[in-house]
Amino acid sequence: MTEKIHEALNKAKSLLESKNLDEHAAKLLMEHVTQKSSAALLADLREPLTTEQHKDFWNKTEELLTGKPVQHIIGTEQFYGLSFEVNEHVLIPRPETEELVLGALERSRKFLECRVADIGTGSGAIAIAFKKERPGAVVTATDISEAALKVAKRNAKRNEVDVDFRIGNLTEPIEEEKWDVVLSNPPYIAWEESGEMSSTVLDFEPHSALFADEDGLFFYKQLAEKLPPLMNPQSLIGVEIGYLQGRAVSELFQKAFPDARVSVVKDVNGKDRMIFCEIDE
Ligand code: SAM
Ligand code: GLN
Repeated sequence: MTEKIHEALNKAKSLLESKNLDEHAAKLLMEHVTQKSSAALLADLREPLTTEQHKDFWNKTEELLTGKPVQHIIGTEQFYGLSFEVNEHVLIPRPETEELVLGALERSRKFLECRVADIGTGSGAIAIAFKKERPGAVVTATDISEAALKVAKRNAKRNEVDVDFRIGNLTEPIEEEKWDVVLSNPPYIAWEESGEMSSTVLDFEPHSALFADEDGLFFYKQLAEKLPPLMNPQSLIGVEIGYLQGRAVSELFQKAFPDARVSVVKDVNGKDRMIFCEIDE
């Protein structure tokens, strides 16, 4: 007789807890192994695991206990209600970033045409979610990493949207056109902060997606310098920021766009998380 679902779950959770790892991962893993939704799992907690499921769950829990993100074991993450393939070449899309997409959709609704660029697209999360929500938009997405772009292209196919992917450094691939919306969640963690990060992020996610020079501000400085000639007279820039960067980043964009309305927007946890720069000349 193999373990019941709730027995295996509780055991796995306390093992994760003893290693200071996120215990919620055990539930996601169990949903994956049993192919059950969250609700179905709850209803079936007293069911026994099959021998196959039992073996699979414990093998994968061993992987979790090394600190590996559950999304790398499952191979996917949900973002804006869509499923994205993820691997070691891309940042696992974060819930905070969904708020950037929502804020950009709301603020760009008034634009009749909508040419959008997502700089540093990673898994393609921002570009693909935006296009899914506003199918009439023409969406371009860039990254400096070829490996990331391969994942992003598969994600566009997976979610059945048409996005133009371009490789290159920052604004380089988008300098031939003018844009209505430019979005970016660039690397923004200062190198000094690596000591406070969990091993699940630090040991498994690409450092080129996380860290930035100049106290994490390097990419915002570059964007504020390069974007002014690329924006249409009525347009929007939206960037995700670290929770302590609101003031510094809003000042950078206000200087670069003196007549624009620049706002710092908080995430659901009440932390400064986005800057929107609304240009209306
Ligand atoms: N947009 C995705 C998201 O929100 O989940 C990924 C964001 S991740 C924080 C930053 C991305 O920027 C990575 O995919 C990284 O490869 C890319 N990147 C880093 N340096 C870059 C550069 N100089 N030019 C373009 N992209 C860059
Ligand atoms: N929010 C991510 C983290 O805390 C960082 C993303 C980024 O640097 N843009 O791991």
